[in-house]
Amino acid sequence: MSSPHALILPYPAQGHVIPLMELSYCLIERGFRITFINTKFNHQRIFAGSMLDQAKFIDGIHFLTIPDGLEAEEDRHNFGRLTASLTTVMPKFLEEFMRNNAVEFTCFIADIFMAWALKIAKNVGLRTIAFCPAAAGFLAAVFSIPKLIQDRVIDENGTPMKKEVIHLNPEMTPLDTSILPWCLLHDTYTEKIIFNYFIDINRATSDAEMIICNSFEMLEKPVFKEMPYILPIGPLHNSFESRGDPNLCHFWSEDKQCISWLNKHPANSVIYVAFGSITFFNNKQFQELALGLELIGRPFLWVVRPDMTNKSINCTYPSGFKERVADRGRMVGWSPQQKVLKHPAIACFISHCGWNSTIEAVRNGVPFLCWPYFADQLFNQRYITNVWKVGLSFIPDENGLISKEEVGSKVQDLLKDRDILARSQALKNFSDISVMNGGSSFKNLNKNKNEEKFLMA
Ligand code: UDP
Repeated sequence: MSSPHALILPYPAQGHVIPLMELSYCLIERGFRITFINTKFNHQRIFAGSMLDQAKFIDGIHFLTIPDGLEAEEDRHNFGRLTASLTTVMPKFLEEFMRNNAVEFTCFIADIFMAWALKIAKNVGLRTIAFCPAAAGFLAAVFSIPKLIQDRVIDENGTPMKKEVIHLNPEMTPLDTSILPWCLLHDTYTEKIIFNYFIDINRATSDAEMIICNSFEMLEKPVFKEMPYILPIGPLHNSFESRGDPNLCHFWSEDKQCISWLNKHPANSVIYVAFGSITFFNNKQFQELALGLELIGRPFLWVVRPDMTNKSINCTYPSGFKERVADRGRMVGWSPQQKVLKHPAIACFISHCGWNSTIEAVRNGVPFLCWPYFADQLFNQRYITNVWKVGLSFIPDENGLISKEEVGSKVQDLLKDRDILARSQALKNFSDISVMNGGSSFKNLNKNKNEEKFLMA
């Protein structure tokens, strides 16, 4: 019998392509073949300048590319515009491909943010799985939308009727209506588009036979207890490292010197600073952060993506900053973040609290300083500071600025807090157990649904 073959579709953003590629690695280790769908734009971006940009098979993965419907120069950070374009252009390409190739595949795994594609797969007779790259608690909030409207907690546009603390169910962590993930997108037009998209996701997910999620049981126990049909399989990680770590999913090329630079530092000495793939700063805040890092007086590794300092955003370092911190600060365009967080030199993580960054730090026992920006990041921050208690939050001043003094003092507070450091280690231990042979995520990944051969066909 030939090996099982999964067709995998991520939402075309960095924080989605990475975990779905990691899931692909996990499945390859379990004997699967993979066909991975990227937008043409992202495929060229990942393999830009390499001989691979035209390649179809790389390291056992077949790459299929589909247009996202935007012009080459259009801004892919415009979530509303990208989503509208994707859902108009992609379905017909996907349908044609699935109709012609359905017999090839054992199952279709769609990012839950692409849940519309599940119906197409179901109609051609494929088994369907939805993968959630965000917290299970986030998914619980999305699944609660009809009830929140019915209970008049939010209106038909998703806007909270008032500021209040709600319980999605009695066991789950209380949720402040001001941090519902569709309410934090900075402009009401985008919020409306995304809220409607979440309603569509909610409906479309009913076409999934299984929902899996990049989390683990001990991390969000009340959610998994209430919603046992969401199966945690995380934390996922880059299990290709040992095979030479080919870049099959990063939009920027990583700085190759990070690890040798970290090797020169003692254990728990370096502050790692990174804000994921889509967060932007204004210049004043950027400079204040730089001065805060200088004030701390410790070594730091700071990811400053090339698009933060380009002409349109134009963040600039304070005058003389680079020279003053040259002996202890390293700024890079993109880091091998998982290897960095695993490195013993790392003391703490100044993070925007994107879910991947969150779970990667949890997995490595690294405590957080939270600097959330939008969407589900404030929701994740609550987990970090109030539920797991493995980090502290920066508090902006009355003008919304996080001052250099705040950066300096909070980092010192965190590093002195033995309870936070101990809880971070304890959470890491739970994470290790969940992916070990016999652990809950391990078992879920090897699950046969209803005794039929399914994910692990
Ligand atoms: N990442 C990385 N190098 C960097 C910054 C980020 O490899 O310098 C990776 C990080 O490990 C994570 C992803 O990019 O897997 C970012 O996802 P996350 O959900 O944290 O944030 P998003 O980019 O979606 O806001």
